[in-house]
Amino acid sequence: MIQTKLKQNEPVLLILDYDGTLTPIVSSPEKAVLAPAIGLAIEKLASLPTVKLAVVSGRRVDSLLAVSGLSTENILFYGLHGGESLIAGSVINHATQEQQATIQSIRTLLEQSLQTIAGVRIEDKGFSVAVHFRDVQSTSVIESIEARVFSIFASNNNAHQLRLLEGKKLLEMLPVNFNKSHAVEQLMQLVPTHYPVYCGDDTTDLEALQTVLTAGGSAIGVVEAGEAFIADTPQSGIVSRQALEAFILSYFK
Ligand SMILES: [Mg+2]
Repeated sequence: MIQTKLKQNEPVLLILDYDGTLTPIVSSPEKAVLAPAIGLAIEKLASLPTVKLAVVSGRRVDSLLAVSGLSTENILFYGLHGGESLIAGSVINHATQEQQATIQSIRTLLEQSLQTIAGVRIEDKGFSVAVHFRDVQSTSVIESIEARVFSIFASNNNAHQLRLLEGKKLLEMLPVNFNKSHAVEQLMQLVPTHYPVYCGDDTTDLEALQTVLTAGGSAIGVVEAGEAFIADTPQSGIVSRQALEAFILSYFK
């Protein structure tokens, strides 16, 4: 249906998550490099006059630009789950000073609590702090990590100014207003007559998928071939990452 709309020159707003949607999930974030042919095909799609294309990620915008190698010419970029946006060449951030201070004090406590556990990586994104444990296999160790993070978060989240986001082997604490669905709402306001499409693979995409679904657009869950999508997820269709890749590559000509 989306392909037909594009062929018939109907306006389409195409919003893509990055990790797990355009690239496979890998052990360290800097290895999630976009295949050059896919990058060129995305740029080609974004250059079509009827298409508005955006990449919305949990990464910082600069990290997203570095791993994707995508041109900023026709593509809009949102980082930190919508908390950061690249507008006219500069990165705009939407966190308050109080939120930043709370994030930094939580980061210190997390480092003290988790430093002895092998395979845990604490990523300070400045405006959010993420605990990654993709390299931890033991279920009991994972439970212990999660319990420590939940406890530190609950005791230090003054005035409920932050939220805790659960992703794939990831717990991230970030300002409550950092939400991919806010980015989706902004984009839909920017091009209100475009048909909105959102593609995402993770629990961090659920609110954005719901927002697009409510707006009457297409909310696409992306999975690795043969895997199931997250249960009870708002979505209008599920595609494999490989099929999405083939769809994008059909514009690489
Ligand atoms: Mg993802």
